[in-house]
Amino acid sequence: MTRETALIVPVALTIAGSDSGGGAGIQADLRTFAFHCVHGTSAITCVTAQNTLGVNRVDALPAAAVVAQIQAVIADIGVQATKTGMLLDREIIQAVAQQVRELKIANLVVDPVMVSRTGAQLIDDAAVVSLREQLIPQATIVTPNRYEAQILGGLAVESLADMQEAARRIHQLGAQAVLVKGGGMLGELRGVDVWFDGQQLLTLTTSMVETTNTHGTGCTLAAAIAANLAKGKDLLTAVQLAKDYVTTALKYALSIGKGQGPVGHFF
Ligand code: PLP
Repeated sequence: MTRETALIVPVALTIAGSDSGGGAGIQADLRTFAFHCVHGTSAITCVTAQNTLGVNRVDALPAAAVVAQIQAVIADIGVQATKTGMLLDREIIQAVAQQVRELKIANLVVDPVMVSRTGAQLIDDAAVVSLREQLIPQATIVTPNRYEAQILGGLAVESLADMQEAARRIHQLGAQAVLVKGGGMLGELRGVDVWFDGQQLLTLTTSMVETTNTHGTGCTLAAAIAANLAKGKDLLTAVQLAKDYVTTALKYALSIGKGQGPVGHFF
């Protein structure tokens, strides 16, 4: 079938790692973009060999290869929103931050992937410093989980008040808005996220979904925010729509493999 006129669709870019199991990273991001009818482009930072049981190996791409992918996409296609995920090491973070600055990349959603939802640190201390000093100040929104909020905010995050204080402190790093995610908290707080944009401090609550198949939740949320920004939604609306999307993705989580399955994108 041929078309008389070409479709015009928003374009989003994900700068993230590949998950061979298809649950998180680039694979989750591209599915999320597609669900939102946003054309997905990608700059792959690292290749993980993983499945539902765990990560067996991680190979970083050279920073120059990450830069080349970003430049290829922006020079020709152009993007309305960008999401960063697992940036792995200091060289890649510095290179991405430089591209964001030089190419004036707007609508930047930074998912500061550094600690897994179980609390294991995924990137080294030097990379954390670069993330904090070079990339987060350029973010339209940064979406730390509990553990990432602890590192970036420099405090223990155990209560709602701690989440709010962390959001205020991370905002001071220069991001336009902060969403501290409650997914790694205990009890009721698992369904609570805290938003702070320098003016409004909001508690955003969603209904809890009981499932252990939560792999890719953070990636999916950040990608859905980017997709909604690419479609022209304002930031808070983009976040609220993205939270609803993740809630549904959790309801439709996939029971695949022998371990922790991923959130679903078929509904
Ligand atoms: N990106 C990649 C490539 C990963 O492998 C992971 C976790 O394993 C993540 C991001 C973070 O995943 P989540 O969305 O579950 O926080």
